[in-house]
Amino acid sequence: MPGRRREYDEEDVRVRPGRSSRPRTRTRPLHEDAVEGFVIAVDRGRYTCVLDVGTPQEQPEAVTAMRARELGRKSVVVGDRVSLVGDTSGAPGALARIVRIAERTSVLRRTADDDETTAEGRLERVVVANAEQLVIVSALADPPPRTGFIDRCLVAAYDAGIEPLLCLTKADLAPPDAVLDYYRELDLRHVLCRPDSDLTEVRAALAQRVSVLVGHSGVGKSTLVNRLVPAALRAVGVVSAIGRGRHTSTSAVALRLPHVVRTRDDPGWIVDTPGVRSFGLAHVSADSLLHGFPDLVEGTLACPPNCEHTPAEAECALDAWVTAGNADERRLASYRRLLASRSGDESPEVRRDRELGMP
Ligand code: ZN
Repeated sequence: MPGRRREYDEEDVRVRPGRSSRPRTRTRPLHEDAVEGFVIAVDRGRYTCVLDVGTPQEQPEAVTAMRARELGRKSVVVGDRVSLVGDTSGAPGALARIVRIAERTSVLRRTADDDETTAEGRLERVVVANAEQLVIVSALADPPPRTGFIDRCLVAAYDAGIEPLLCLTKADLAPPDAVLDYYRELDLRHVLCRPDSDLTEVRAALAQRVSVLVGHSGVGKSTLVNRLVPAALRAVGVVSAIGRGRHTSTSAVALRLPHVVRTRDDPGWIVDTPGVRSFGLAHVSADSLLHGFPDLVEGTLACPPNCEHTPAEAECALDAWVTAGNADERRLASYRRLLASRSGDESPEVRRDRELGMP
């Protein structure tokens, strides 16, 4: 606030009553004694952070923190790199304070579901910060692949500037050809998983980066997470969050991948998102939506100015683009379904299918 002198110290966040009478020689604003942390879980105003992000230590030490008041209304989400002061010992009951949030390299968003709608309209939620890869987990059978859901995830990834990776599970039940054919125009990387596969390929794709995993229930995402990160390791670091009840099961949690071979390389982090059933895309513009469909982009060059690319646009060049065989008609249909879901003028049946991730 301009012109208003503010000093921030323990008193502001009421961590330890009585300490405000201490000499203020250690009072920041620069917080020179701050240590860097990485937010791995968020639960009702408590942030679980680890301090040793870059080191190949198997069991990261977890610190529980709260936000310092000076952060204002800035949200802190899983994946954020933060500066911590106060008690960063990680001892039981210790509480540190987050005084800074580093600039984010990426922001994965979703528009909140309808039941979270407020008077201002649909809320935009940040799912994860600083992710480098979005792993879209889809089964090849039981349940069958839902390209509508995959398309939606691709749009969210491209919009966030995050590289997508298609992870096709249950590869023992069906071949990947049809799905891969559907995406043949995209430079979309993929890995295959079977119940008996050793996950070497998956681990290689996850190494040295932060990856967000999304997928519907039943596609084998939880199984994959359990195989990648053994339960004993998973418990470490998120103990405080898990101990606080079921709330955690619906929010994102970052898990450090273990070393499976002797190497100094960072095996990477995965962020599980149990509560994310779909990516609402109301916050994504029609042009940004097109980023999820690079195979259609060139076709829009012949569209009239300000074409909305909907079926109602008589002059939209995308129909001719598809008819001429430049792109798959199913891709255009998917793009237009996402356009309709964005503007909200979709039928209840379509909306239900979309939430189920149906193609
Ligand atoms: Zn058009």
